[in-house]
Amino acid sequence: METEIIKIDRERPDMEAFQKAGKILKEGGLVAFPTETVYGLGANALDEEASRKIYAAKGRPSDNPLIVHIARMEDLEKIVKRVPEEAVKLAERFWPGPMTLILEKNGHVPYGTTGGLETVAVRMPSDPIARELILQGGGYVAAPSANTSGRPSPTTARHVYEDMKGKIPLILDGGAVEIGLESTIVDLTDQIPTILRPGYITLEMIQDVLGQVQMDRGLIAADSGVRPKAPGMKYRHYAPKAQLKIVEGPVDKVVAYINKEASGRKKPGIICTEETKDRYRYGDVKCIGARTDEEAIASHLFAVLREFDDDGVDAIYSESFESPGLGQAIMNRLLKAAGHQRIDVTD
Ligand code: AMP
Ligand code: MG
Repeated sequence: METEIIKIDRERPDMEAFQKAGKILKEGGLVAFPTETVYGLGANALDEEASRKIYAAKGRPSDNPLIVHIARMEDLEKIVKRVPEEAVKLAERFWPGPMTLILEKNGHVPYGTTGGLETVAVRMPSDPIARELILQGGGYVAAPSANTSGRPSPTTARHVYEDMKGKIPLILDGGAVEIGLESTIVDLTDQIPTILRPGYITLEMIQDVLGQVQMDRGLIAADSGVRPKAPGMKYRHYAPKAQLKIVEGPVDKVVAYINKEASGRKKPGIICTEETKDRYRYGDVKCIGARTDEEAIASHLFAVLREFDDDGVDAIYSESFESPGLGQAIMNRLLKAAGHQRIDVTD
């Protein structure tokens, strides 16, 4: 299959491109498109056969459910049993935006979209390209990140092309995404609202709206065998081809440790920050932003991991990041990419 890429001019979007994309979705096909978080691989969420194509194109395990994207609040109640008060409050504050809600599904949503679960994940993205595509495609677009399962999520149309070339008919190219990490997932089907995946909308921000909210224990105790509640969070993810290790401790010791390790490798890769980038003496040194600019770090992380694959490094060392606020989502992705390999150089 030929994969067409259509560049969308955000100032003057070409409606014909959206009509073409919407037609593919309505006929049960796949279209990749930008959202404010990462690029998504879309299919009609109410068509089980179409959802199945997503799993095939990504090589995604079939028990890992898809997020259903909507563009209008009134479309929510048509796919869930009940819209709880917490959902209304969170939607008022954060939709359209990078937040996904888990709710009880109704009969309109096929099990092929929810990985056999009785619950459904729903998000209303803010990217105008995503919104227009959802409307043209019938209102309900199932869309996981548009990468091959296990690889870093795509933040540009080129990343999508690398993974999906020949597997899907169309990619809408809206340029680099804004945020660069996937949405925050909030489960509203339990007694206490629970964050199943940290993201741009932080625990503190959700707390501010709902009062009570907790982190899924499976996330906190990621090494201890507690199963995460979001099926997708249990898989190794975002993994670059070379082994990634995260080095923690006082900055001078971190730099010294990484320099020493890197000096003994053939082709090491290093993930560092503005503050330290001139202090590394070996290897492929990639700066992902200033330590004080977490938004920059978030938006560069996946692209940097992909670049290391292209460069063919044989080991990757990364500095560690603070984990309140957005740092929690950054560290969650980095730890998963590293298969939880962290080295503490404090003493
Ligand atoms: P992706 O769209 O690739 O970023 O992945 C979607 C994430 O949402 C995965 O981690 C899924 O396991 C999770 N997810 C989707 N639907 C549900 C659900 N009904 N319950 C819990 N987690 C879900
Ligand atoms: Mg994904």
